[in-house]
Amino acid sequence: MGVVVKKVELSWLDRTYVWPVMKGMGITFQHFLKQLFTPTAKRFTIQYPDMKKAMPEGYRGLHELKRFEDGAIKCVACFMCQEACPARCISIEAEEFSDLNITQGFEEKRPAKFSIDMLRCIYCGMCEEACPKDAIWLRKDYEVAAYDRLSMQFGKWDLMNTYSEPDGKERISEDPTPSVPRRTIAL
Ligand code: SF4
Ligand code: SF4
Repeated sequence: MGVVVKKVELSWLDRTYVWPVMKGMGITFQHFLKQLFTPTAKRFTIQYPDMKKAMPEGYRGLHELKRFEDGAIKCVACFMCQEACPARCISIEAEEFSDLNITQGFEEKRPAKFSIDMLRCIYCGMCEEACPKDAIWLRKDYEVAAYDRLSMQFGKWDLMNTYSEPDGKERISEDPTPSVPRRTIAL
């Protein structure tokens, strides 16, 4: 059923267009004053990027490939995340871990290559849910920008290191093979 829209007749004051503009400016000024006297933490607008909003619990942001305390990657290249990803944006190449690891009862595989196409990712969190080793997390970080498409292909070392400095962890470019059995290392 159609709705009859009531035609609004403009008064002579409105027809001058000065009064409506003044009314609009008044509302803008009202908001300006309100923001000016509102404590910083409660403001709608913040001085980004100097200030950043804390994301709510459960927010799904950028990925991180987790490491053990000794720096070794937690991922065992099981391909579960790749299978679960609805956007088909995860690509993994597995490699065998050293004989030392196998004899000491460690996992026998790790990813030689692990990449996520961040331009295709829909941040659904399915990879995180599918991972049996708790090796991939979606963090609350949300800043991702690049000048070209290639830079949006996050590789293994990007995913392992991106957040290392804010977390106080050293950046690494090599997956260290532990010299002692993993079960003796505090996780
Ligand atoms: S968040 Fe979703 S779309 Fe992105 S990599 Fe993980 S499973 Fe794929
Ligand atoms: S991140 Fe997790 S699910 Fe994906 S390959 Fe590694 S261990 Fe498997």
